[in-house]
Amino acid sequence: MNIRLYNSLTKQKEEFKPIKKKEVGLYTCGPTVYDYPHIGNLMPYIIWDVLKRVLKINKYKIKHVMNLTDVGHLTSDADDGEDKLVKASRETGQNAWQIAEFFIKVFRNNLCSLNIDEPSKFLRVTDVIKEQIEFASILDKKGYLYKISDGMYFDTSKIKDYGKIANLANVELKEGARVAKNNEKKNPSDFAVWKFSPEDKIRDMEWESPWGLGFPGWHLECSVMSRLELGDTFDIHTGGMDHLTVHHPNEMAQSEAVTGKLQANYWLHNAFIKYEGAKMSKSKGTFVTLEELRAKGFSPMAFRFLILQNHYRKPLNFSLTSLQAAQNGLEAIIRAIAFYGKPKGNCKELEEEFYEAVSNDLNTAKGLAVLQKVIDSDYKNSAKLATIYKMNEVLGLRLEGLVKNAMDISDEAKIILEERLKARDNKDWERSDKLRDKLTALGVEVHDTPEGQKAIHIKF
Ligand SMILES: [Zn+2]
Repeated sequence: MNIRLYNSLTKQKEEFKPIKKKEVGLYTCGPTVYDYPHIGNLMPYIIWDVLKRVLKINKYKIKHVMNLTDVGHLTSDADDGEDKLVKASRETGQNAWQIAEFFIKVFRNNLCSLNIDEPSKFLRVTDVIKEQIEFASILDKKGYLYKISDGMYFDTSKIKDYGKIANLANVELKEGARVAKNNEKKNPSDFAVWKFSPEDKIRDMEWESPWGLGFPGWHLECSVMSRLELGDTFDIHTGGMDHLTVHHPNEMAQSEAVTGKLQANYWLHNAFIKYEGAKMSKSKGTFVTLEELRAKGFSPMAFRFLILQNHYRKPLNFSLTSLQAAQNGLEAIIRAIAFYGKPKGNCKELEEEFYEAVSNDLNTAKGLAVLQKVIDSDYKNSAKLATIYKMNEVLGLRLEGLVKNAMDISDEAKIILEERLKARDNKDWERSDKLRDKLTALGVEVHDTPEGQKAIHIKF
């Protein structure tokens, strides 16, 4: 199956052609580990997980690298403001190392809850300080860096097509609009490669370098880690659309300045989630974590289902109502397939239609529509189930586990079910209905079918 992906670099959908025959080098910009991720932070990892699953069913071996930013990401995406980890440290009284450790665990737990396969390699920024200094030294030797009072900066005017991924050449650069105003910089788009530690404070995280005590600029890590693990040029680079104007142009500029080559061939960007039309923010109360959704009775799989109903390049307007609808939709699938029996055979045409959809720039919404088509089709139940489970290898909705779980009926409910069977044998419909109500109160649904009474208990 040909995989087609929308490449932000060429601004069109292209057939995916890897550098090596059956291998893919994939890099994803990871989280800054200073707080609980909100669901909007987690959403892209579901999408890139689907991308990996689509590549996997096409027999590609994937080397996936992700950074964990534990130093150097300032409160502004430009090079001013406080280091996010330092700020969290000041607010909580823990040191920056403890904060990073804790939130890396939270992030990995969230990935696991959402059934997201972990990357082949996670790299912490603080694990590759030596390599970042070496990389920056090459930039310095080649004449790309200059010094101002708070750090070493990259002179973007030295890159002929700087910002090509965002068409920045066509955007009038207003100082203070895209990046913070800094009178010492030569060009508004110049950015810090190495920041100096403040003279009046000792940071938890700071290192000696040829330019003085300090820490790496935020963009440096991705250039260094991707090259270290995947080589000068690799296949796919993924990240959020917010990276199109600052972070990715800067990553590319650094990498191209060092290697003289394009950093990655395909650049994929996801749109964002809004919460009832507003940006997710703590101050507005629109900052929702996965843990909070769970406490409200929502399954992480319902959240995954909701994300898959949308195309990743279209913004998603999140609300608890839409999440509830997604959870209901997922329940309906479980209810439909729970009594299909054993998987055997396939629904070939629909399977092909499904692979076609998800291989076409990850059209998971269409993929889910095909799944519904399978349920509604005239194929044998066993073939339907086999196909749905195969589709689920891409969707990652843990359907097998959810079905198994739904078939697990408590002993208390089993006794009531037996009583109901007896009541029905005796044509005692009143008692049968009362027992059904009892079962409903326990969360058990009972269906009277030609093959007799059947029960499921959908639990997330
Ligand atoms: Zn990055």
